[in-house]
Amino acid sequence: MSLEKLADILFPEIGKTPEYYLEKYPKRNLKEGAVVGRYAPSPTGFQHIGGVFAALINERLAKQSEGIFFLRIEDTDQKREVEGAIEDTIATMKNFGMNFDEGMTGEHSEIGNYGPYRQSLRKEIYSTFAKDLVKRGLAYPCFCTPEELNAVREKQMAEKITPGYHGEFATCRNLSTEEAIKRIEAGDKYIVRLKSPGNINNRVEFHDLIKGDISFPENDQDIVIVKSDGLPTYHFAHAIDDALMRTTHVIRGEEWLSSLPIHVQLFDVLGFDRPNYAHIPTIMKNDNGSKRKLSKRKDAEAAVSYYREVGYPTEAVVEYLLNIINSTYEDWRAENPTTDYHEFPVALEKMSKSGALFDIVKLNDVSKELICKMKADKVYESYIAWAKDFDKEMYDLVTSNESMSKEIFNIDKDGPKPRKDFAKWEDVKEKIFYFFDELFNKESDENIELPKTLSLEAAKEIINVYADKFTFNIGSQEDWFEELKEIGTELGYCTNRKEFKANPENYKGMISDVAGAVRAALTHRSNTPDLYTIMQIMGEEKVKSRFKNFI
Ligand code: GLU
Repeated sequence: MSLEKLADILFPEIGKTPEYYLEKYPKRNLKEGAVVGRYAPSPTGFQHIGGVFAALINERLAKQSEGIFFLRIEDTDQKREVEGAIEDTIATMKNFGMNFDEGMTGEHSEIGNYGPYRQSLRKEIYSTFAKDLVKRGLAYPCFCTPEELNAVREKQMAEKITPGYHGEFATCRNLSTEEAIKRIEAGDKYIVRLKSPGNINNRVEFHDLIKGDISFPENDQDIVIVKSDGLPTYHFAHAIDDALMRTTHVIRGEEWLSSLPIHVQLFDVLGFDRPNYAHIPTIMKNDNGSKRKLSKRKDAEAAVSYYREVGYPTEAVVEYLLNIINSTYEDWRAENPTTDYHEFPVALEKMSKSGALFDIVKLNDVSKELICKMKADKVYESYIAWAKDFDKEMYDLVTSNESMSKEIFNIDKDGPKPRKDFAKWEDVKEKIFYFFDELFNKESDENIELPKTLSLEAAKEIINVYADKFTFNIGSQEDWFEELKEIGTELGYCTNRKEFKANPENYKGMISDVAGAVRAALTHRSNTPDLYTIMQIMGEEKVKSRFKNFI
């Protein structure tokens, strides 16, 4: 009877029972094997690429199995909350091709029958379960102050005892119910703790869908379940939410693995079936030969916003993440070059158990491949969509020269070896700037790249002659090159490498120097697509004026 009174004093506003909620949120009617997975971020404003990684795994597994993928906002730590973060998360996930079947759809809106999907709106639910635990003698109020807890911790450390609130150190566990009631009525501050039934000498066996079989000692800490602000801790909310939302698979970062003894215990104490767990390896980075976590502070690529800012197509990032999830993705992609990535079957058991290595070089390769396969019109559209937000100058230049820009993006597209110039939209400017006088004319002589074997003076001499002799409308790349060779030969450049090697003193240089001079005059760069094509896109007038300005 007095436990009941204690529960009422702790949670006077709670009239419902756990059964009410268990009925309200019934088992989902889904086909056998359907995965109910979720993305459960805290709205702190910073989105780590690891979050997209976790969300993607959940989303793929749910969609593949005709299950449900939902968004739950974990905002019980209200100090860390940042305005607009929920909307930002939703927009980001959508941008990465992930759509939620249920959950928050905005700061104040949601869809689905298993809500509210925002933890701060679920206080009554958590309190109902906490109240029930108190009634059953499985949870109790703790009045220890932070100072008292610190003193105990120090003593434990000094005596080499596992720190924390357990065994003889869990002093409030042994308060009589009457004493506890008296202290609450006197206005003492409290939190609510679980009365852990665990024994550190027993082991719990567990199967993790990524890590495999694991065993660990039972939890014997009387963990906090309700904080002084009346909101639950992550542990308690996780158990209640995932049970009531009927989550089948809790797929989350491996930083939670060490909390598993607590979570398993909570599910048991609350009488819930345990979900399947899969703990995702942390994304690591190779930093001068040693592996470390991708860090929010040190690595720009840790932030999801980075990929948008520098202009990686989100699909490229997704494909890259799929590569990390299952290393078989690469072969699958090679065998199915045009298939939508959604068709790739993600398998948790094929995932590497240890740190997934994030490799920007590999991301660039994946992205280059993807952009290379896009039609010129799509490259154009995607580029201007990016440039509009991140490079206004390029946006204006490219959109006011739409047909030329599309021709530029079309260079080599249909050839047997299409160029893989762009990994991200930020790269485009440096690769195409020379088509635009506005950018080209800003260059100075120092920017001019020439073959190592050619001086600027010699290049100017070549162009001086070439500009007068070349035929703009010559008809084909082959004819253009023949003419270049003729003019080069007249100028004293050799068209045969062997011959040149044998008698270098007879020549000013190789024909490649002549091409290098033309390339420099038109583009200032030494590595460009085919020159004949560049000239055709620039048009006769621009080509001639470039030659003139060069000399
Ligand atoms: N809010 C937790 C986090 O952001 C969620 C972990 C989970 O998926 O359960 O780390």
